[in-house]
Amino acid sequence: MNLLYDMHVHTSDSPDADIPAWRLVQKGIENNLAAIGFVAHLDLNPEDYCYGGFNAEVYDESIARARKESNGRISVMKGLEVGEPHIYEEQVKNIVDYSNYDFVTGALHSVERIGMVLGKEAFADGDPMEIVEEYYTETLRMVEVSDIDILAHMGLFRRGLALAGLTYDFNELELWPDIVEKILRVIIERNIALELNTSGLRRKEEATYPIPGILERFRDLGGTLVTVGSDTHREPHVFFRLYQGMKLLLKTGFREVHTFHNRVPQALELA
Ligand SMILES: [Zn+2]
Ligand SMILES: [Zn+2]
Repeated sequence: MNLLYDMHVHTSDSPDADIPAWRLVQKGIENNLAAIGFVAHLDLNPEDYCYGGFNAEVYDESIARARKESNGRISVMKGLEVGEPHIYEEQVKNIVDYSNYDFVTGALHSVERIGMVLGKEAFADGDPMEIVEEYYTETLRMVEVSDIDILAHMGLFRRGLALAGLTYDFNELELWPDIVEKILRVIIERNIALELNTSGLRRKEEATYPIPGILERFRDLGGTLVTVGSDTHREPHVFFRLYQGMKLLLKTGFREVHTFHNRVPQALELA
């Protein structure tokens, strides 16, 4: 079986996840992972469930123990998932020193003036498609200015739409081609990787974030820097559909997937 790489794995260092990093290393080895990219939520939006839940020292110890456990059998990377970095980056950088991390992902969980888009609440009133358009406009603002290595789970609003019982099987590239393409052009230009997040495959919407059409457009625009991540938080969805995600990348025409060490991408063959 092919080797797998997961660049989006939460540990018990985040309030919404419950498996210790050292245990995930064991599970990674059992599941044929060659590399595991841990992330901890760093959210400074008071509305966010993980607000105030990050402790850099505790996370450091947790990763150190995981590295010891790995004993060279699996590559362990220390990452951060920063919520809305375009708004909170300055405060975040007072809490952590990015040079101590292998990679930083930018995650849009909340849209300005609308609120959190992972749940159904944001979609309780107002036009849902206007909210989705606003999500993309804000994603563009985020990737234009933030100091990030990976754009995490683009399209996460589908989870909120599905929970609210609304339509989610549309193609945003047809609805807002200019904004979505601009996002892709900006990340290519700024060397930010596009993450293929497989966690939506275990939810009602059964979709990857982003949808395959966006991966294709990214490739057509010349994008090559892609990562794959399961967004593991707890059992029974550890490393969920990672293999399927890597197959989708290969089918879309990508030949390599990436990991990050000291914030420098490393290409690994997909085939
Ligand atoms: Zn997230
Ligand atoms: Zn995450």
